[in-house]
Amino acid sequence: MRADLLIRGGRLIDGTGSAAFRADLAVVDDRIVAMGALHDWQAGNVFDATGLAVAPGFIDPHVHHDEALLTDPLLACMTSQGVTSVINGNCGFSIAPLKYRGVLPAPLDLIVEEQRPRFEQYKDYRAALEKDPPSVNSACLIGHGTLRINEVQDLRRPADARELKAMRAALDQALSEGGIGLSTGAFYPPARAATTAELTAMATVASAHGKLYTTHMRDEGDAVIEALHETFQVGRDACCGVQVSHHKCAGLENHGRSTETLALIDAAMKQQSVGLDTTPWIASATMLNSGRHKQATRVIVSESVPHPELAGQDLTDIAKQWGVSLDEAIARLIPAAGIFFIMDEADVQRILSFKHTIICSDGIHKGSHPHPRVWGTFPRVLGHYVREKNLFSIEEAVKRMTSMPADRFGLGQRGRLALDHFADITIFDPATIAERATFDSPVQPARGIAAVYVNGRLVWDGEKSTGARPGRHLDQTATPQAV
Ligand code: ZN
Repeated sequence: MRADLLIRGGRLIDGTGSAAFRADLAVVDDRIVAMGALHDWQAGNVFDATGLAVAPGFIDPHVHHDEALLTDPLLACMTSQGVTSVINGNCGFSIAPLKYRGVLPAPLDLIVEEQRPRFEQYKDYRAALEKDPPSVNSACLIGHGTLRINEVQDLRRPADARELKAMRAALDQALSEGGIGLSTGAFYPPARAATTAELTAMATVASAHGKLYTTHMRDEGDAVIEALHETFQVGRDACCGVQVSHHKCAGLENHGRSTETLALIDAAMKQQSVGLDTTPWIASATMLNSGRHKQATRVIVSESVPHPELAGQDLTDIAKQWGVSLDEAIARLIPAAGIFFIMDEADVQRILSFKHTIICSDGIHKGSHPHPRVWGTFPRVLGHYVREKNLFSIEEAVKRMTSMPADRFGLGQRGRLALDHFADITIFDPATIAERATFDSPVQPARGIAAVYVNGRLVWDGEKSTGARPGRHLDQTATPQAV
């Protein structure tokens, strides 16, 4: 028997959570065609995986690489950590459909660069990806905030009936053209004035398409419980599955409250379709002028358009140097992004360990000093939290990075090592895998990733990108499941 690629002698972690087993794996074209003891198989390309783990490629369900897929299509920050598929358009801000011609308000200005082309319709963005494909597969949510910027005359008020109708029509069209769901970010100024009724009216459109509603909730701090209730209500009233994005309890006074939030999520899951994802870090990252600095014990400026030379410095040091208040320093630094130390390690571990939690990076590929999650998220879970902290088994960790996001978002034939599934495969060393990216030095490929294949083609060889760009636009091909 002949294959294009044979991976011999590895321990297969198939993505379902079942125990790893020793087997060979054969790939023809873009599919897995055999697994087991494949002694009589041959291939032009044989990878000796002795001593290594062979897993489905990781699926990152929450990133902001909408534009990076086009400007840096090799996306080494993702492939070098074993990620083979990403979901963009999160937190209410997608690159498309974007009709607005004016200066973009934050945080959309972090997602879409001023001088880059704007995609008026989702199908235009999709066509650009298909014409000039990136290394990884990608799907994209349609952002309510982006639609608001297109249609709502005054972002400080709820949409009126005419504007809501236009946003719903635009969402309906974008979902027909391949958008994988709806995202909202009522936390952010362009969407803060949206009422629960407005969010529900939008989620009803997603529901009609059988697609998910994901949300960067209105509040992840003092009012996190109220925000969860709002999220569940929108899901119930719109009959739509909801995904709580990058779940956290922000601010010193809210440390420890994940016991409350997880109990509430668990109870809601018994009544309706609810999911959640999280990142394995105690710091978050977002626009610098988000108000988050008031909740943070430390703020690193990760990017500043007027002061790029200050990327990587602490906000307090910059303010001290300038002899100004923190608020004044922020005003001088924007448009800018920051890294905010606002979470408690015990909450991070409790949320990560919760049975239903999917792993995400929430990364944005911009500036010289990003959050280390952009390069280090998945290896950090497998190294720090699995090998060192023993938070859960390696099979469980891989499941949270593969079949769970695939099932939640309806990505059929991805996220598992199984016959006829797409050959998205990550080979890594469980004994050494670790993130090398740190808050001081965040742009670093991880340790312990040996090879990464997307649709049967090698995209990361363990040291560098190969240059291959086999990534596809992913449609929802299965019904989203509760995981
Ligand atoms: Zn967010």
